[in-house]
Amino acid sequence: MIRKVSQHVNQNEGLIFEKSSPGKKAYRLPPLDVPEIDPGKLLGEHAREDLGLMPEISEIEIIRHFTRLSTWNYAIDLGMYPLGSCTMKYNARVNEFVARLEGLGNAHPYQPEKISQGALAILKLLSECLCEITGMETITLQPAAGAHGEFTGILLIRAYHESKGNPRRKIIIPDSAHGTNPATAAICGYEIINLKSNSEGMVDVSLLAQLVDDTVAGMMLTNPSTIGVFEKDIHRIADLLHDKGAMLYMDGANMNALVGKTRPGDFGVDVMHLNLHKTFSTPHGGGGPGSGPVACKKVFDSFLPTPVLTTRPDGKLGFEYNRPQSIGRVRAFYGNFGMFVRALAYIFANGPDGLRQTTEDAVLNANYIRKKLEGAYELPYKTGSMHEVVFSDRLQTQNGVKTGDIAKRLIDYGFHPYTTSFPLIVPGALMIEPTESESKEELDLFIDAMKSIAREAQEDPQLVVSAPHNTRVARLDETTAARKPTLRWRPEQSEARRPAAVVKPELVETR
Ligand SMILES: *Cc1c(COP(=O)(O)O)cnc(C)c1O
Repeated sequence: MIRKVSQHVNQNEGLIFEKSSPGKKAYRLPPLDVPEIDPGKLLGEHAREDLGLMPEISEIEIIRHFTRLSTWNYAIDLGMYPLGSCTMKYNARVNEFVARLEGLGNAHPYQPEKISQGALAILKLLSECLCEITGMETITLQPAAGAHGEFTGILLIRAYHESKGNPRRKIIIPDSAHGTNPATAAICGYEIINLKSNSEGMVDVSLLAQLVDDTVAGMMLTNPSTIGVFEKDIHRIADLLHDKGAMLYMDGANMNALVGKTRPGDFGVDVMHLNLHKTFSTPHGGGGPGSGPVACKKVFDSFLPTPVLTTRPDGKLGFEYNRPQSIGRVRAFYGNFGMFVRALAYIFANGPDGLRQTTEDAVLNANYIRKKLEGAYELPYKTGSMHEVVFSDRLQTQNGVKTGDIAKRLIDYGFHPYTTSFPLIVPGALMIEPTESESKEELDLFIDAMKSIAREAQEDPQLVVSAPHNTRVARLDETTAARKPTLRWRPEQSEARRPAAVVKPELVETR
């Protein structure tokens, strides 16, 4: 069975984006019951005579407009969202409920410690849980995203080496790393040594041995790597680094493959970040809130960002600011508190067994897809997959169909695309991460869609390279959309209120 998006698009059947017409209102105010004031007196020259071109629209029109727009989008609530490396899992509604509880949702960062003990206890409990899950000894919850966690972690490593008298110069990064890793190392002032992966997509240990010396501050390793492969020589990698006084940083964004099964702290990692918005259940994407706690070994404790959560002699929790060796603040206040609540709710709701089961299901789902799609798509690395599987478009490019085309066609079948063209070590990559959230039924629909597209690529490649066909808009200029986003309604730059119809091709609205 194949699910197809049924939304009918007819660009000529035009209701247009601009709906304003003079005199309409979406509100009704009671009569003024206080003395009227002269805005000029209150605001001087800043007082405005008129509001300029504001949309004038009725309540039902504005509700329909936004409700209709919301149905043009794809969401995890509509179906599978297999965007590899992003861990787009379902986020239980109960976590949202807990994060919005009055005492938590309304807590203010300037609230005195005395009346913040509950909120602080959440930070403490979450810190303990995350240290337990990662096998680490100390943690900061401050960083606001994964990449920000990397930045914080590498600054910690730098501060550690500096305290020994030499920050060192280089960071080693495998070619299978997430793009944020080299960016992080560069912004922290390091020279980047690129390490080529071996034929299994893993770190080439003998090559690494030649590269590590006492000018190397550390290595940044994504484990499982971006091709979804676990580094089987991780102990040897850690030993090689430690022998030369270098540190092992782990990009822990892929912890959805490890939680409850193995702990980075136990296999030699010194510093790592977690992506709470990936592994620990916060809705993300579209620039929503992130959280990238950094967990590390005890030697990094004195360098952690301030303020640091501490237990006072009377047993009360509070923040300690006086930490002379600290790298300083990396974010205002204490981090994204709502996400800490969600993460803790997620951890407690699952418990140790539930978290382990989650990991096993995520890995099983990825391997189910791998098994079913092997043959239809080329598998560049035969090494066992963890939580995600990476195919390439090599079989399809023979007919002129590329990974981006297959992804666009997938939209017609009612799925969010997988990650395209990443990781870079796989030319034409299709990176698929189903997460534990999906049932066998949904996975089968996805597999059917992918097989069907593989068939189309052979029999009717034009159909695939011109996809999507069933969406409101087709192939947009993604670069300009990212570089110069249009994020809000703007009136036309003309004196007169323009006629009702201003049709921008990308904003044509149909019913
Ligand atoms: C998502 C991801 C990051 C970056 O995380 P952000 O929160 O987007 O900054 C880094 N590394 C890997 C492997 C990732 O998957």
